[in-house]
Amino acid sequence: MSEALRELALPSGWELVVGLEVHVELSTASKLFCCCANRFGDEPNTNVCPVCLGLPGSLPVVNATAVNFAMRLGRALGCAVKGAVFARKNYFYPDMPKDYQISQYDQPTNINGSIELPDGYCVGIERAHIEEDTGKTVHIGGGGRIHDADYALIDYNRAGVPLVEIVSRPDIRSAEQARSYVRELRGVLLATAVSDARMEEGSMRVDANVSVRPAGSDELRTRCEIKNLSSLRSLGRAIVYEAQRHVSLWENDDQPRQETRHWDEAKSRTTPGRSKEDADDYRYFQDPDLVPLAPDAADVAAIDASLPRLPADRRTALVAACGAAGHVISPEDAALLVERIQDDLVAGALQAGADPAVTVTRVVNDLAVDNWSKVTAAGLASLVAMVSSNQVTSTQAKQLLEAMVESGEPPEKIAESLGFEAMTGDDLQAVVTEIIASNADTWQRYLDGDETERKKLTGFFTGQVMRATKGQADGAAVNRLLSERAKFFVARS
Ligand SMILES: [Zn+2]
Repeated sequence: MSEALRELALPSGWELVVGLEVHVELSTASKLFCCCANRFGDEPNTNVCPVCLGLPGSLPVVNATAVNFAMRLGRALGCAVKGAVFARKNYFYPDMPKDYQISQYDQPTNINGSIELPDGYCVGIERAHIEEDTGKTVHIGGGGRIHDADYALIDYNRAGVPLVEIVSRPDIRSAEQARSYVRELRGVLLATAVSDARMEEGSMRVDANVSVRPAGSDELRTRCEIKNLSSLRSLGRAIVYEAQRHVSLWENDDQPRQETRHWDEAKSRTTPGRSKEDADDYRYFQDPDLVPLAPDAADVAAIDASLPRLPADRRTALVAACGAAGHVISPEDAALLVERIQDDLVAGALQAGADPAVTVTRVVNDLAVDNWSKVTAAGLASLVAMVSSNQVTSTQAKQLLEAMVESGEPPEKIAESLGFEAMTGDDLQAVVTEIIASNADTWQRYLDGDETERKKLTGFFTGQVMRATKGQADGAAVNRLLSERAKFFVARS
């Protein structure tokens, strides 16, 4: 069980309620309303113009690719694509040079979708609307905190970058589910190629609305919005902390205030930010400089026709391919393989007759790399055949896969050049006998020991055998030999 799940022991009688707002930067060449480059990491304030600096007299022109990407994402999330209106969201903050942000308010582009998690649970999506990003403020001095800083610097390269904000319904019931939702959304973003979805570079930013309620009730109590969670780990930990804070307030005849909060990773706690604005505070109104978006049925049909296979469909196909080969793949393995886009590789190897259980295990354990494109389904199938027929050990299979990633050569050829030959049968028997003889006391402890002790000492003996054979022994075979020997000794004594 993950750390987050273990920590989330809400006192009995309480239920967690979480909705997520995820901001995603679209990977268009230019910004949402001007021709400036949409590029991360450039020299500050070099990708700017009168429009994204909000200079008087400049006018926005909407980027058609950004709108197309947003609709594409919407359809991939099962949303209805609607006619939409751009609205001004007014607020005074130095990172928004116009003093308002162009967003969508009561008529967003996408509404009513959902995301199906790998375990089959469905999280509703209320809306996915288009808006522009703000600039970036960096506080200098005082450890980078706003209150202690000497001064602030602003980079407007990000101002006007196209975003889609995906707002989930408050359907999420655990920190683990929240993480699973973000992973799944990331998979959809990568599949549709509308964003590079890099949390660490800020092209995918998560806000979590957290509240608690008595288990079984359907009320929605006061929520707090934790802003800008920049990793899955922070997301899980922040939700757990905040939920526990709420429970302890309610249980002490107090209650949380509706506010935004910040997650302090170092201190493992949330701290209060500003009290949460209501929509009224933003004084939304339709942007008079932009025409409404009016996609027709043909536009939507064209998008639907161009959508790639999505993670949920790929998982279903992988489960079916394994099932047809006689193996029930776990939901976790299926999700992981699809996330790494290794599902077609596995399915290809199964088509070539590879043992499904061995194939899944080898790829899950030994192919956790990005640059595996040289590994072919045929090569993988050959490798799996060598493992299944005990020609190579698991340790050797791992080394072979590493070499296949590098060179793309067939595993038989690599095994030959590395001099691999798994040690099984009589040779292995002899080594095990020798190791037992030279560790007689430990062997006696193994014979007398309970299950825990035996498990510990099995590790010791396997290690000794591995050292003696320079890793050429099959760990499972050593294990088997040890327990066979033990039965024999016990039977004799
Ligand atoms: Zn510009």
